[in-house]
Amino acid sequence: MPLAPKLTIQSSIRELAGVGAERAAQLERLNILTIADLLLHRPNRYEDRRHFISIADLKLKEPATVRGKIVAQGINYFRKRTRSVFEFVLDDGTARVHCRWWNLPFMEKYFHVGDEVMVFGKPVSVRPRTIDHPDTEVLEPGEDPSIHLDRIVPIYPLTEGLPQRWLRSLAWRVLGQFEPEIEEPWPELSKIIGEKFPTRSNAIHMLHFPEELADAKLARQRLAFDELFALQLEIQRRRRALEKNAEALPCGGTNELIRPFLARLGFKLTKAQTRVLREIRQDMSGASVRSPAFRRSGSAAEILEPAKAGTTNIAAPMRRLLQGDVGSGKTAVAACSALMALESGFNVALMAPTEILAEQHFQNFTHWFEPLGVRVELQTGVRKTVESRESRVESRNALPPPSALDSRPSTLFIGTHALITPSFDLPKLGLVIIDEQHKFGVAQREQLVRKGRYPHLLVMTATPIPRTLGLTLYGDLDSSIIDETPANRGRIRTFLRSNEQLPKVHEFIRGKLKEGRQAYVVYSRVDSADTDAGIKAVTEEYSRLQKEFAPHRAALLHGRLSAREKESAMHSFRANHVQVLLATSVIEVGVDVPNATVMVIENAEQFGLAQLHQLRGRVGRGGHESFCILVANLKSDEAAERLRVLERTTDGFAIAEADLKLRGPGELLGAAQSGIPDFRFADLVEDRGLVECAREYAKQFGNS
Ligand code: ADP
Ligand code: MG
Repeated sequence: MPLAPKLTIQSSIRELAGVGAERAAQLERLNILTIADLLLHRPNRYEDRRHFISIADLKLKEPATVRGKIVAQGINYFRKRTRSVFEFVLDDGTARVHCRWWNLPFMEKYFHVGDEVMVFGKPVSVRPRTIDHPDTEVLEPGEDPSIHLDRIVPIYPLTEGLPQRWLRSLAWRVLGQFEPEIEEPWPELSKIIGEKFPTRSNAIHMLHFPEELADAKLARQRLAFDELFALQLEIQRRRRALEKNAEALPCGGTNELIRPFLARLGFKLTKAQTRVLREIRQDMSGASVRSPAFRRSGSAAEILEPAKAGTTNIAAPMRRLLQGDVGSGKTAVAACSALMALESGFNVALMAPTEILAEQHFQNFTHWFEPLGVRVELQTGVRKTVESRESRVESRNALPPPSALDSRPSTLFIGTHALITPSFDLPKLGLVIIDEQHKFGVAQREQLVRKGRYPHLLVMTATPIPRTLGLTLYGDLDSSIIDETPANRGRIRTFLRSNEQLPKVHEFIRGKLKEGRQAYVVYSRVDSADTDAGIKAVTEEYSRLQKEFAPHRAALLHGRLSAREKESAMHSFRANHVQVLLATSVIEVGVDVPNATVMVIENAEQFGLAQLHQLRGRVGRGGHESFCILVANLKSDEAAERLRVLERTTDGFAIAEADLKLRGPGELLGAAQSGIPDFRFADLVEDRGLVECAREYAKQFGNS
């Protein structure tokens, strides 16, 4: 007779004895498909059942575990049977306690007089002793008590119909059978981390049945480390593959264009901008220096110096993340970087997340680069055909024949994700720049890079990325930080106001308009059809507020307008033909109108802190003092407390950290950021140390 195939950790839970179709379906709802999944099913919490107390010793509001026999039970209905309370009385020989469940009449099915029951909860009263909605387990005669009693037991997340005890027994059994098969994933590494962490197999045992609560903590850390380490290894692997296969294109530039560009720019680069540009030039000239020697601050003239020979010989393409708070001047850095590649005879692509921002970049860069003889072309979803100042001129004459393509001057292509369209060609691509990286997914970024043969990559973001997240999401990028804002900036003052104070806010706006300034008013919704009570929509407010601000003019801007309409609203505002822009958060990124000094955000409680900080960054861009007024429903203390963070600080990093704590990484980075791995054990907020540690080991270990 053939032996049944041996089960392994990867086998389906359906193959386990005692797991029928119904139980299997329940487990699958918890994403437990294999034995390995079960082994990694993480308890919500643990219960210390080594220390039962007597019912007589129960104290008011102190959580405790007791056990006894049910001596009475029953259900009472009231309010025409719409409400109920089920109750049983537990006796352990020292005293009795009433356990009650409100409006859960089916609880009656689970308990019978005579049952041995264990109860965990907090007494709401001690005369008579009463616990509402306790955790319970009926102790079944003949069952191995060592699993469920006299130890620290795991309490798992469950799904409907799945009993805690059954799952715990299954975990116990599966552990007994498979624990010896749990291998160290990286045996070499284990020798190094052995002192810090338990083995993986011990960790998994301790995750379910720890001897002490501290063991459970240690177990989680080991398992979190494994997740983070695997990710870091993958990041390192990708990076080395790139370094092995790709040779940096020589894009160090000649200064031929940068020199006149800087001369006409109208301001001096800040120290931080200069330092970052030196880092970029090192990378782009193939001198790829990652030594801290070049981290010293530089003077504006220094970026004109030729790149020094590298101290390492890895001439891999640049992969650089540029972080700088809103208004720190990332666009000028992008422009200089683009010029380096253009000078070297390569084309450059600049991708922005919105049409508004792509259009604004197109205008700025055309203004800057046209006098230098550089072509600037725009590619957005709506403008299928490439448009450029030059081609408009050319079209009056004849277009150049296709064979002339290679000899035409280098071009800067600016666009939205339309740049990724497969049919759109980006020849001779030397540099890819991605603005507001956090609005794109990692996949989109790589798609654009693949349009060329290993072009350099510069990704820019104003969302300050807390270090743990940065190492996790962007661990394959070097990072540069602009930690200084241009000196000529007016201050931004931030105020929190309640809805009732809105008339005063409007009066304030009118005052600033009279002084010649401009204002944004931002709403969270487009129209009232998609809004809940109490949340304003920009289209309705637009019709109301036009009168309010007359004779000053207002324009409307939101994502559902056509590209032409958006462009025209933005254009009128930039040209100061209209003074008030009523908008949704489409203006969150990149928009730059220095004369606008007032930013009012209605229903501010609807936005994340990092997002509000971005919106606030639309003002304070010229020399005038600027104001950000958050109008919110302040009834809830929690909402007000959250928004006060913005009143207190303008430090983007502090705000991002606060947001990360309050709302988690998904919210902070936006839905597009699909790069956040789904961890079972690692927590990017709490596990800073582990992230760093995993990265260090991955660096050492990945190279051997
Ligand atoms: P962000 O980093 O948010 O993209 P921008 O690049 O839009 O910021 O720059 C904000 C404003 O600051 C722009 O009006 C820009 O012209 C101006 N700016 C940039 N660098 C400097 C500088 N070194 N000195 C003075 N103004 C600058
Ligand atoms: Mg910008």
